[in-house]
Amino acid sequence: MKTPARFLSRTFAVLALATGVHASATAAEPALRAVASFSILGDLVRQVGGDRVEVEVLVGPGSDAHVYSPKPAQARQVGQAQLVFSNGMGFDGWMARLLKSAGFKGRHVVASEGVRPLKSAADHDGHGHGHSAADPHAWQDVARVQAYVANIAKGLCAADAQGCETYRRNAESYGQQLKALDQEIRQAWAGIPAPQRLVISSHDAFGYYAAAYGVRFLAPQGVSTDSGASAQGVARLIRQIRQEKAQALFVESIAEPRLIEQIARETGLKASTTGLYSDSLAPSGEASSYLGMMRHNTQALTAAVQGR
Ligand SMILES: [Zn+2]
Repeated sequence: MKTPARFLSRTFAVLALATGVHASATAAEPALRAVASFSILGDLVRQVGGDRVEVEVLVGPGSDAHVYSPKPAQARQVGQAQLVFSNGMGFDGWMARLLKSAGFKGRHVVASEGVRPLKSAADHDGHGHGHSAADPHAWQDVARVQAYVANIAKGLCAADAQGCETYRRNAESYGQQLKALDQEIRQAWAGIPAPQRLVISSHDAFGYYAAAYGVRFLAPQGVSTDSGASAQGVARLIRQIRQEKAQALFVESIAEPRLIEQIARETGLKASTTGLYSDSLAPSGEASSYLGMMRHNTQALTAAVQGR
């Protein structure tokens, strides 16, 4: 006997075929519906889930997950999902409330589980944010993303045992790409002397990148984009830029450019016209995947610190 849902999806498949759109959707119906909190995590889940998993992203490319409030339609998506992925470490702390209000009954996977956290950098705004808290931006270290991928595969296997072999295989081959990317980033920095590896950007999102690849980042704003920056913090930073002859100044895609513009005016440095992607993928182009985003950032950073 045909259930209505089955009938509907079959009708849709026929329609799709008839119009020539999404013909590949007829090949296999996704076994799982998953929701990921932000675009970078969404890409990782897609890489491991492949065709078996339909992934919706709550905070899309170019938006800021630190200060997100869910739309009613998104709460419905969450309510219908079998799996929800969040970053954890306080990055998408709104997720717990959303799961509750959406009546979510599925499995919640915290992708950073077991990842060794870094303390957030000393905050520059003097409000005491983040001093003892973990820095949530762990995806900026490719080696730590290997642990994300393992957690994602584990979560998918637990929700869909039939697909487990596929998820493991996908995780394995994506893991190889991550390994190669990690090497590539190390090589890109290898020829640049340590004192020259200094970058000014708008919020402290690159602590893990800094630690993994031996780069120093200074930011006028705290770890979260909503914490603001004080006049003293900015003045201190400007002094430091002059003392250390920093070359690289960046405006991030999700952050307010005002502070960086002030710093550029006062130091005579020119802000790089190439953006950095910290908490979000680009809507299109090279940085629209995690691998591409890390390549893009590395390329932009190594060029800027060398005054190019
Ligand atoms: Zn951030």
